[in-house]
Amino acid sequence: MDEYDLIVVGGGPAGSSLAHALTHRGWRVLVMDKARFPRDKTCAGWVTPAVLESLDVNPETYGRDHVLQPIRSFRVGLMGQEPVETDHGEEPVSYGIRRCEFDNYLLERSGADMALGEKLHDLRRTEGAWVLNKRFRAAWLVGAGGHFCPVAARLGDGPGGYEQPVTAKEVEFEMTPEQQQRCRARGDTPELWFCRDLKGYGWVFRKEEYLNIGLGRQENHQLSVHLAEFVRFMQDAGRIPEDLPRRYKGHAYLLHGHARRPLTDDHCLLVGDAAGLAYDQSGEGIRPAVESSLLAADLLARLGDRPETVVAEYDRAIRARFGRRGDESGGVRLPEWLKATVAPPLMRTDWFTRKVVTEKWFLHTDVPLLHLSA
Ligand SMILES: Cc1cc2nc3c(=O)[nH]c(=O)nc-3n(C[C@H](O)[C@H](O)[C@H](O)COP(=O)(O)OP(=O)(O)OC[C@H]3O[C@@H](n4cnc5c(N)ncnc54)[C@H](O)[C@@H]3O)c2cc1C
Repeated sequence: MDEYDLIVVGGGPAGSSLAHALTHRGWRVLVMDKARFPRDKTCAGWVTPAVLESLDVNPETYGRDHVLQPIRSFRVGLMGQEPVETDHGEEPVSYGIRRCEFDNYLLERSGADMALGEKLHDLRRTEGAWVLNKRFRAAWLVGAGGHFCPVAARLGDGPGGYEQPVTAKEVEFEMTPEQQQRCRARGDTPELWFCRDLKGYGWVFRKEEYLNIGLGRQENHQLSVHLAEFVRFMQDAGRIPEDLPRRYKGHAYLLHGHARRPLTDDHCLLVGDAAGLAYDQSGEGIRPAVESSLLAADLLARLGDRPETVVAEYDRAIRARFGRRGDESGGVRLPEWLKATVAPPLMRTDWFTRKVVTEKWFLHTDVPLLHLSA
């Protein structure tokens, strides 16, 4: 039996950030992932500078060997009407990365032991320790296995019908030189197009010679139909090439405001998508994944010998950082008819698209960098 201080299930941004933070504080950490890395992850792949700063990733250094597309403006619209372009100046306000590269980079530098290509299929709590697949044992267990994380499934009701996840589909591919010429979408200006019923949005995101096209909705009804309509709309407008790959990949995940699953158990924490932390308006989940892991690592490093305090403090810290979860009452929801009436004129204004849609919902300029007490 291999012994560790902590085992994290899932080597995405959540798992690797946690592992990195704890191995550098002297913890023996194992990262278990069913995939072998580099692996792909269904994702548009934009990250704000806050993510890179929290991870101590220097954009210049990272960009030397990896795709790192600076973003300086957005083209934002409601499908069927003219878009507005928001110009945010010369300094990049966001970046485009490729998840196959980014996740591998973070995992490799984490310094943790790895069990890759190893699916968690057996999880037991015996004699005050967690035992995984009958061959790894640790005092602490962290679930970072994404929306369908098997650790999350063990806590409470686990992922299931009582949750209302976002469902999304995307494709990312390397364009041929001819496709690059025909593609009018620009790298530094991702396109965000909201569905007329405001239940989701589509995006076109060019990252150097790669093109990422996708659509996500807060329901799973006729997702492919909505996606096909969006792609046709973009092609008719001449923004993307006609000859696209046929296969789009799908995935589901929870927005923080809809998440009801428990965050903790005895000597056990959930981080990232496993905890259901993505931002409500944009669906961006990399920043919450990284920040939840840094919060967890900080508490574990400072208070690891007081497990009940860690568990209670982590729950409190997540709510304090990300706001009201789906398991709390309160808050005001605008009726659908009101949203549908006010959205078309608002989405034509520079003020709303810039101050609310891009700066608040997508760039989170009002959310300060995470500061940890240690
Ligand atoms: C279409 C789409 C577009 C998105 N675009 C963006 C975006 O542009 N920007 C952004 O910030 N967020 C975006 N998101 C959300 C973002 O992808 C997630 O929030 C983020 O990946 C969460 O990271 P994580 O580490 O928690 O989970 P993941 O990145 O999902 O990693 C989980 C890991 O767990 C492993 N695993 C799962 N089950 C097991 C098991 N049984 N045993 C062992 N290992 C297991 C998986 O192999 C995987 O490597 C998007 C999501 C989708 C679906």
